[in-house]
Amino acid sequence: MAKDEMVWDLSQLVESTNPASIQKQLENMVSEAEKLRSKWHGKIAGLDARGILDLLGSREALNLKFEGAVRYGQLVYGADSTDETAKQLYDAVRRAMTKVGQALAFVDIELGRLLASKPSLAKDPVLAEYRHYLERILRRVPHILSETEEQLIITKDKNGISGWEILQSDWLSTRTFTMEIKGEKKTMPYGQIIGFYQSPDRNLRKQARQTVFEDLGKDDIVWASAARAVCEDHMEMCRLRKWPTPMTQSLIDNDLDREAFDSLMKTIQNNTRLYQKYLKIKAKLMDQPKLADYDLAAPLPKSPEKTYSWTDARQEITSAYREFDEQVGNWIDEMYERRHLDGEARKGKSPGAWCTPWLAGKSAYILQSYNERMMDVYTQAHELGHAVHDYLASRAQKPSNCEMGSSIAETGSIFGELLLTERLLKKAKTKEEKQAILTVVLDEFGVSAFQVSARVFFEESLYDAIEHDQFLDGETISKLWTAARDMMHGDAVEWMDVMKWQWTATPHYYLANYRFYNYPYVFAQLFVFALYGLYKEQGKSFVPRFKALLAAGSSRSPREMSTELGFDVTSEEFWRKGMKQAEEFIDMLEKTL
Ligand SMILES: [Zn+2]
Repeated sequence: MAKDEMVWDLSQLVESTNPASIQKQLENMVSEAEKLRSKWHGKIAGLDARGILDLLGSREALNLKFEGAVRYGQLVYGADSTDETAKQLYDAVRRAMTKVGQALAFVDIELGRLLASKPSLAKDPVLAEYRHYLERILRRVPHILSETEEQLIITKDKNGISGWEILQSDWLSTRTFTMEIKGEKKTMPYGQIIGFYQSPDRNLRKQARQTVFEDLGKDDIVWASAARAVCEDHMEMCRLRKWPTPMTQSLIDNDLDREAFDSLMKTIQNNTRLYQKYLKIKAKLMDQPKLADYDLAAPLPKSPEKTYSWTDARQEITSAYREFDEQVGNWIDEMYERRHLDGEARKGKSPGAWCTPWLAGKSAYILQSYNERMMDVYTQAHELGHAVHDYLASRAQKPSNCEMGSSIAETGSIFGELLLTERLLKKAKTKEEKQAILTVVLDEFGVSAFQVSARVFFEESLYDAIEHDQFLDGETISKLWTAARDMMHGDAVEWMDVMKWQWTATPHYYLANYRFYNYPYVFAQLFVFALYGLYKEQGKSFVPRFKALLAAGSSRSPREMSTELGFDVTSEEFWRKGMKQAEEFIDMLEKTL
């Protein structure tokens, strides 16, 4: 296989890959944004529906025109952050984007004011394609303060709430940890030691977590001060911005409502036994009387050492998608054929895996470090599911409707993993192979549905405690964390005592102005399992309905989209469908024992 099959071709994004020409494009983008500003700034209040259509259209045209140059700069840097030219281009992209953001910030603000005074505009037939986009702006309006207050908040946050976020992240990344590996003491940073959490060596996994959380617990004053400041600041903002609950801001941002959230979380609470059943089966597969916390994410000791070449992965994934739908299969094939994937593992490459939409090209680009393990095949299928979402949404929607929130953005990707699972299970010859596949799927399900839910319940309990005037010191926060954690895991896991400090290292609790980061992922996981259950029930007739859902992009709320498909995300009955699908996988795994 030619190696460059695994290296993406970014030249399609731009007319010329000459760095000077890209820089020039970025400069043009800024000056065109400024032109747009001088044309519309201060004039939005007087616009009718046609005027708004014109304004939004111009902004989209600007974004599409320069999207290729922006993506190019971001992606060359993702591919190799040590490359000098890439660094410069990326820096230029960031500076240009900030300028464009500043120049065009007035659009949503002025539009919000106009819509607040004439809400009927959001329903004007001329603006039909932007209806939900405008409704979302309208939903934010009652919580926006005066311009002076907003500016003051930004100024104070820079050294206030953001300072705590930076402190937590800097403190964590500058700690070093010492543990013994093969009789030798090794000192390493946080980013490196957490690599041992998934080691096949049980003792190393244990030692790594013991070392990290024992050390982090010693700084509980720092972590608790940061967490307290972030939470209390949020409570103040709720009062100022008239958000009725600590979660309101997040529900607005995620385009969800409280009823859907409540029925989702209730379903989780009512099904913790199902998760615990899986954990007990996993303990058997690992020859342990009970799982320890450091076994939760561990691979099975008896997993077959099967590897998948790049060609194998392409073959399996394309077939899996093609069995679902011919057109989707063709798009997946096109992603490989046009070399929109970067799989080569190289120094300086951005960690993890991601898919970036390329709306102007009605396609996407994917980055991952492909190491031939089954996990890597899954990651690739996942990212390609995001690409399918982009293919469908960019063909059906205005660019403003291609900004999918976390609860919907994972629909194509997790569904794609399940299609791959179906195919791999059919081909699996031994029970060990089947076990390896099912534990990959169920581990992920366990993390996203239950472990992540523990974070949601924990975060809720932090605000409850503050409302009841409880002082949040390190030990108190740890008690709240272990309570939420134990509610999910019951007696199925043995936790090391130091794990009470697990919350100290989770960045989500410290993000400035970004509360309740986690539940959209619970939503996504159970949503897709439920959809997959429907696919199994309805067969081929489900395919066009599923494609229509992805094609809707962000043009409708998740609740509306579900209603169109004939189910109700505010009812526990729907979410139970997702649990039923998980139960089927768990039963399959149990039968292999
Ligand atoms: Zn994803």
